[in-house]
Amino acid sequence: MESKKYKLINALIIKEFESATRDKKYIIVHKKKHWIIAEELYLILSFLDGENTLSDICCKLQSLGISSTAEDLEKIIKTHIVSKGIVEGYEGEAENEKKSKYFWFQVNILKESLIKKLSFTKYPYNKVFSLLVLILSIPGFFIILRSIALPDFYLMIPTVSYKDWMIITLLIISSGYIHELGHAGASMHYGIVPYSIGFAFYMTMPVLFADVSGIWVLKRKQRAVVDLGGIYFEHLYLCTLAIITIITKSNIILIATVIRYIGLIYNFNPFLKMDGYWLFTDLSGISNLHDTTVRYIKAKLLRPFSISIYEPHNELTSKSKIVFYLYVMISLVFFIFFATLLKNITLTAFELLPFAKEDLLNFFELGSIMEILKSIAIYFKNYFMVFISAFLVIRIIYTTFRNITLLILEVRNKKSQNTQISTKLPVSRE
Ligand SMILES: [Zn+2]
Repeated sequence: MESKKYKLINALIIKEFESATRDKKYIIVHKKKHWIIAEELYLILSFLDGENTLSDICCKLQSLGISSTAEDLEKIIKTHIVSKGIVEGYEGEAENEKKSKYFWFQVNILKESLIKKLSFTKYPYNKVFSLLVLILSIPGFFIILRSIALPDFYLMIPTVSYKDWMIITLLIISSGYIHELGHAGASMHYGIVPYSIGFAFYMTMPVLFADVSGIWVLKRKQRAVVDLGGIYFEHLYLCTLAIITIITKSNIILIATVIRYIGLIYNFNPFLKMDGYWLFTDLSGISNLHDTTVRYIKAKLLRPFSISIYEPHNELTSKSKIVFYLYVMISLVFFIFFATLLKNITLTAFELLPFAKEDLLNFFELGSIMEILKSIAIYFKNYFMVFISAFLVIRIIYTTFRNITLLILEVRNKKSQNTQISTKLPVSRE
């Protein structure tokens, strides 16, 4: 066994991973999968050239202050390296191909090869160009801000006809696509083509996303630019639309612009997995922020029972820990607020349901087709709320059950997750 040799496949990318942990971390990329590894494993990987035998590697590690037997080394290589399918002559273990545990009903609309053809989207990331367009967008931005601040705008909304709502919806969807192209363009500006652009549900909300997982290999500041890319493109688009409303005097375009811009501001929210979350993660260097937060809270809850679990936040530098604690505190306040809001929406939806049902049952007696359509629309609007609420309740029960099962497994196996490899989540977002 000591003379056994392993060789890494050629197509493997290994880079230093920029984060706020005390110890150095590295990132491996293979077939759209990303793993973050600790320095020890990185050293082992660097010796897997097909020339070194296991005992050679043991000697080399010894000289670096890491003692290991050939048996232990082989065990590490098998569980953490060979299983990933990154060693020549070995097939990796079939992993759960689930795209993202945060997205439901994920559908890819644009594939990598098609996105590549849209490489012109990287030009707005030229420094001079971006500065110029941002200055040019100021008048449009003021039109939007003025509309948000003045009550006249909100009085306009109830006067909009059903037909016009369709135009507004189309404008809003187009804005969403431009947003994703913004992320894609930024990513390509740094030489990384997004894996896909698509559609999914995030916590019952329909969202468009750009899978730019490849950007984990970039520096923190570069990742932050990609995070802001969507907002940047959409800001430019909406400011242009705002100028068009002045020329055309179109209230419909103005309504679409302002509604979408309010959504854009909401995108900075760092507590849900929106652009603000990724921006915060990348700037602070605390990756897997949500998981780290959840684990921290779980550990706190389990402590009275003398059960300890792995807490990733312990790996952070002391400065980043302060940032992390602040984030946890504000998150808790946010989620209590969010839960209360959801509870109220759910209750209102259920209260409205019988009325809408009555409307629907009576719809044959209604006169015009428009009236019938209207009543059906009202019915579905309310029914949809009930559907969403039910969906969310099931989701919460499912997640809680799954989390408890995983936790029991972890505690029982004493499986410390602090093994050198952890899988990264995609940076996909609205
Ligand atoms: Zn975005």
